Amino acid sequence: MKFLAVLIIIILAFIAATPWIKEHLPAQYNPFAPLTVTDPANIITRYKLKRLATDPEACLAVMTRARDDGWVSFRRTGSMHGRCPLEQPFIIQRFGSVQLNTPFLASCPLAVSSVMFVTDIQQHHALASPLARIDHLGSFACRNIYHRDQGRLSEHATADAWDIAGFRLQNGERISVHDHWRQPQDKAAWLQQTFRQSCRYFGNSLGPEYNAAHANHFHLGMRGFGVCR
Ligand SMILES: [Zn+2]
Repeated sequence: MKFLAVLIIIILAFIAATPWIKEHLPAQYNPFAPLTVTDPANIITRYKLKRLATDPEACLAVMTRARDDGWVSFRRTGSMHGRCPLEQPFIIQRFGSVQLNTPFLASCPLAVSSVMFVTDIQQHHALASPLARIDHLGSFACRNIYHRDQGRLSEHATADAWDIAGFRLQNGERISVHDHWRQPQDKAAWLQQTFRQSCRYFGNSLGPEYNAAHANHFHLGMRGFGVCR
């Protein structure tokens, strides 16, 4: 009973403070302000990312702003039908100056999380030379998890997961999940830090520590809430 009373007081206080929050809180802490892909990865940002999954219009608005600001190039493709239907998915072509080995298909929430993650590594993670390209293994595959005959559909069946195999720098250096997760030290440290950073933008991030199936890539998916293994 006491707990309920306290809860009601907290809720009422929050409602009373709403106009103040809307006006005064910086956008990255304000749950009512639209998400921007350069927002820092905090709990409010994560909540806004989660909310985009059920609000396609708001999600598209975030992507359009990100494109106008030069963080991503994409186009939309028609809806796909069948066992693994997709509603007007995005084809991600590059992230600003960061190229891709090949464009990839993404649901809108995956597209937003990917832009935020790549923008973050470009801006904040020191490398010998700027990031030039991301080598990935794909995002969309109409299949069950681990290619099993039975069981639930993979996140890849809804273009809600992206598998990254490695990175290339402008000086030509290559950083591969398979070859450099443990050594040499500088590449390993950068890869491991980059993996941890991904956990702030995706529902789940699975890497080489998780199991042998992930020895050569980071699986970055939208299911879950900060699963990081
Ligand atoms: Zn995967």
